[in-house]
Amino acid sequence: MRAVEAAAEGLKVRIGLEVHCQITSLKTKLFCSCPSDYRGKPPNSHVCPVCLGLPGSLPVLNWKAVEYAVMAALALNCKVSRRTLFMRKNYFYPDLPKNFQISQYDRAGGAPIGSDGYLEFMVEKKRKTVRIRRVHLEEDPGKLSYKGAIDTSPYTLVDYNRAGIALLEIVTEPDMENPREARAFLQKLRSTLEHLGIFNGGLEGAMRCDANISLEGGGRVEIKNISSFKDVEKALSFEVVRQRDLLKKGIAVRSETRHWDENRRITVSLRVKEEEQDYRYFPEPDLTPIEISEETIRRLQSEMPELPDARRERFIRQYGLPPYDAEVLTSDRAMADFFEDCVKLCGKPKAAANWLMGDVLQVLYSLNQDLAESKLTPAYLAELIGLMDKGEISIKIAKKVLWETMKTGKPPSLVVEEKGWKRIADENKLRSIVEKVFSENVKAVEDALRDPKAAHYLVGKVMEATGGMADPETTYRLISERLKALRGSAS
Ligand code: ZN
Ligand code: MN
Repeated sequence: MRAVEAAAEGLKVRIGLEVHCQITSLKTKLFCSCPSDYRGKPPNSHVCPVCLGLPGSLPVLNWKAVEYAVMAALALNCKVSRRTLFMRKNYFYPDLPKNFQISQYDRAGGAPIGSDGYLEFMVEKKRKTVRIRRVHLEEDPGKLSYKGAIDTSPYTLVDYNRAGIALLEIVTEPDMENPREARAFLQKLRSTLEHLGIFNGGLEGAMRCDANISLEGGGRVEIKNISSFKDVEKALSFEVVRQRDLLKKGIAVRSETRHWDENRRITVSLRVKEEEQDYRYFPEPDLTPIEISEETIRRLQSEMPELPDARRERFIRQYGLPPYDAEVLTSDRAMADFFEDCVKLCGKPKAAANWLMGDVLQVLYSLNQDLAESKLTPAYLAELIGLMDKGEISIKIAKKVLWETMKTGKPPSLVVEEKGWKRIADENKLRSIVEKVFSENVKAVEDALRDPKAAHYLVGKVMEATGGMADPETTYRLISERLKALRGSAS
């Protein structure tokens, strides 16, 4: 990413995000009673006349979705509209069976559920604030499938199972100055919505992102439908370099919509924007305006669970963690939950934090998993920390055990037993190994008799002979004693 910054050097970058998050905790869709667990189901099996937009069907609002949207708006420090409407956003596209999307709009008498908020997060150990322009509620369109790449596919298939799922649209001001900040923003947004208990970001397609990016002196480019945090960062980094190159050559960057091709890792032009698209918004005549009373807002506010920032402060207070550790752990709800469950079992907050933020993340990365799908449980990590604490395994072995446990799902103590990785601290056993090493390394013994520092070589030989299982302290003591005895008999 350093290269990206160098490429953009001197030119101010402005990035804004438009994020669509499904309210995954809802059982049914936004305007009908079709079940919302459409993933992995046969195409077009979770549909009804309402979400298919058949003539004569009428939408009925899922009120729980409104309450969850209000909670999200409050968590993002937004003003909550007391009165708001649903509007029809008219456009013609195969994923939209009604030819309009029921959404919200901030003009033509409409208002989003939440507006003028902000979200704070850490990036590169610095605190950053991004303003939230609006949070609104709308229905998800269906899902289009292509053969290969979007721009070369000979056909498009459509699955309406997703049509009508409740979506939160969250739009930021263009406050981010590099791709890394965009990624950190999304991470914090995900953690916040997950802490509210309304969202599971681990589900495929639950969070989708459009990003707009402009470089000083160039047009505004919108990148559509990016599916992961990593890809947001990659797509934006690609654009920084592409736009910077154009500007350097004196070519204008045109305002356009581009598509991120995950496989080719490039953005491709979809359409050049001549003017703002006219969606002919007008109030949805089949739904009454939404009234959100002061009382409802107060009740929801009082029912709000602990959010990441409060949890971070508690981690510092309650567990004595450094602020950085507390920030990293609470930036992911699954990780924060895992940490607390593990500490309850092992009572070692700092050790648990170090393992989670270090080796565990590394192994997850190598196995291409996230914590939720990992075979590691809080109890297993607590067990591993306990084994080290009791001196039964060394840190080096513990790392190997962790890898085995995460790969196979076997408890750490079983791995240690099966692999014979238990530390050898039995003095008689070690003494006989020391004897053997002394008789096989006469020259090294002579060196060690003259220079005590040379004894480390002998310790190394004992480690070698035991496959690293010898307890280092006991080994060193036995070798020192043996050398002392030899010195005594020589004088
Ligand atoms: Zn339906
Ligand atoms: Mn939208």
